[in-house]
Amino acid sequence: MMKRQKKNDVPLKGKINIRFVFVTVIAILITTILTTIVFYQLFKNEIMRDLKAYTNVLKSTGIFSEESEISDVHLDNDDLRITLISADGDVLYDNVVPVSVMTNHWNRPEIEDAFTKGEGYAVRLSETINRSTFYYAVLMEDGCVLRVSKESDSIWSVLLSGVPYLLGIMFLLTLLAVMLSHYLTKSIVKPIEQMASDMDHLDDIPSYKEMRPFIDTIRKQHEDILQNAQVRQEFTANVSHELKTPLTSISGYSELIENGMAADGDIRRFASEIHRNSNRLLTLINDIIRLSELDVMEDAPAMEKVDLYEIAQTAVDMLAVNAEKHEVTINLKGTSGYVMANRVMMEEIVYNLTDNAIRYNNRNGRVYLTVCEKEGKVLLAVRDTGIGIPEEHREQIFQRFYRVDKSRSKSTGGTGLGLAIVKHIAAQHGAEISIESEVGKGTEITVTFEAYKD
Ligand code: ADP
Repeated sequence: MMKRQKKNDVPLKGKINIRFVFVTVIAILITTILTTIVFYQLFKNEIMRDLKAYTNVLKSTGIFSEESEISDVHLDNDDLRITLISADGDVLYDNVVPVSVMTNHWNRPEIEDAFTKGEGYAVRLSETINRSTFYYAVLMEDGCVLRVSKESDSIWSVLLSGVPYLLGIMFLLTLLAVMLSHYLTKSIVKPIEQMASDMDHLDDIPSYKEMRPFIDTIRKQHEDILQNAQVRQEFTANVSHELKTPLTSISGYSELIENGMAADGDIRRFASEIHRNSNRLLTLINDIIRLSELDVMEDAPAMEKVDLYEIAQTAVDMLAVNAEKHEVTINLKGTSGYVMANRVMMEEIVYNLTDNAIRYNNRNGRVYLTVCEKEGKVLLAVRDTGIGIPEEHREQIFQRFYRVDKSRSKSTGGTGLGLAIVKHIAAQHGAEISIESEVGKGTEITVTFEAYKD
């Protein structure tokens, strides 16, 4: 079978691959950022704790108290910077930068906090983005603030230092994701591919619960297609057969006349046979055309408000001669019954049912047509006092070309398609057909429509 690929068909594998990789990368990024933030917080706390300890040690030494001579203090420390700030914010001492070049420090947050709350912390980025300076300041008894600060890696440098590892992990995990998604899609797609290659055994293939409705629809469609093909094939065979019989007669009789083999007295009889068979052909072809019209009709037929009683009246008038010929009387009873329907189709239903009731009746038989409205439904009932339909045939008489008694049907001009047309039209109108019959007593066929609502 040829593989069809539409332009907008997305390959499932590719799609799952991309999603997988995408999710992996996002997960790795989020994890890295969150972990860095948490670790950096711990790292910061650790530095602050150290700074606080240094500061308190320095404070307790008393070197920076009022009595000592500050300018004499020499603290050589590469790592720590120590600053003493007076109550008005002026820098009194700094172990790194000369006091003379230093500006007022009042506005520094950690110093402000120390003056107001007793101690203060701050972290500020250094000139280079890679480094941060951590500050701790404490208020001393004499009103000055002692501040100790230390430079260390900033969060950015911590983050950046992790980048090579990050890339490595990302690469490995992406590879893993691609491999996983490959096997995953393969196993996901396997039952689907199996189903596509073997439509006849859809139920035997292990599949997903979620796909059940999908499988059921496909199976139903598959069965419908097979059934339709079969019905169509049977119909074609039946049509050919039905057309062949009258044509063979016509051909035979005309050949006899052509060859001069018909006696003068026979010619008239042969001509009438030819005439009868041609009429039969015409009725057959008309019914076949009508059925195929109904079959191919895609849109709903043009609907209007139709009074079934009025239609029944017309049918009775049209069939009066026919009824007389069969020595059958027709009775019409009931009241107006309005339905939303196609007028021509309603005429066909009533005509076909009444015609059958006349043709499958006995001499001096009766046909009762009733139209009535009941509980929001309009009922059309056609009852006869005729030959009845044996139980075992009742389901099938609506099938195309199905007849209980073939010779009786043919001799009365039947095609075996009348009830098939009735069934088709009823279905198109959402109407239901019910049938009651007793052999030798008669038949009643009722079609129930939804009543017309304003
Ligand atoms: P037909 O053209 O042969 O009448 P239909 O489709 O109208 O075809 O009916 C199918 C068959 O159903 C008929 O051949 C006949 O045997 C049976 N049938 C239909 N209507 C009646 C009826 N009112 N009474 C008895 N048999 C009927």
